[in-house]
Amino acid sequence: MSSAKYQRILLKVSGEILAGEQGYGIQPSVLEGLADEIADVVSLGVEVAIVIGGGNIFRGIAASATGMERASADYMGMLATVLNALALQNALERKGVMTRVQSAIEMRQLAEGYIRRRAIRHLEKKRVVIFAAGTGNPYFSTDTAAALRAMEIGAEVIMKGTKVDGIYDADPLTTPSAKKFTELPFLFVLNHNLKVMDSTAISLCMDNNLPLIVFNLKEKGNLRRVVQGEKIGTLVTPGGR
Ligand code: UDP
Repeated sequence: MSSAKYQRILLKVSGEILAGEQGYGIQPSVLEGLADEIADVVSLGVEVAIVIGGGNIFRGIAASATGMERASADYMGMLATVLNALALQNALERKGVMTRVQSAIEMRQLAEGYIRRRAIRHLEKKRVVIFAAGTGNPYFSTDTAAALRAMEIGAEVIMKGTKVDGIYDADPLTTPSAKKFTELPFLFVLNHNLKVMDSTAISLCMDNNLPLIVFNLKEKGNLRRVVQGEKIGTLVTPGGR
């Protein structure tokens, strides 16, 4: 297959991916590899928007567990996503991919503020739009930001790049007999409390008919495969309610 199945996608990249083997921060080789994968699908003519997480640097809920006020901790988490967004922007632009970072928290010297119509215009001009600072609100996650922005920009699908091959009925790292789902409905994910995205993000997708594909972003060429419609990973569908 050479052409893309989707015209406009929302790629969710968790901060964890960027940490690579280091387990913290941004591993340069991982960043480079990710930028290559993204540049590759951009070359197919696909419009790519990205929501980037911040868990490789700071997670609000973890800090609040040690006594920090949750809202303050979450704002710090959102700032962490901005660091990742700027790193990814830089890596992409070094490969000749045009990008814009839009932040949900105003930081005019660093990034555009989030403006839906402007984001869509960038995508139409084949610029990769990186959404930073999540939703701009504490108590939310970047998965919820991904669902929200995907709907706002009219993405056909959310592609959630993770470290595993898809959704399993048990943790494949600790349970070798765990079975992978190729397709399942959002309601099943919610009812069985499968750790795919938080329930706010899942509900948003389910209620607004937005499909989700969970796949292994660490495997070279996988992003292109998913974009071309190859059935790797797990497809979560709004149907089957
Ligand atoms: N965050 C937030 N509101 C949002 C998105 C993120 O408060 O809309 C904060 C929250 O503290 C979270 C941190 O930013 O822990 C990093 O985001 P997330 O944990 O979703 O990143 P990921 O797990 O994808 O790396």
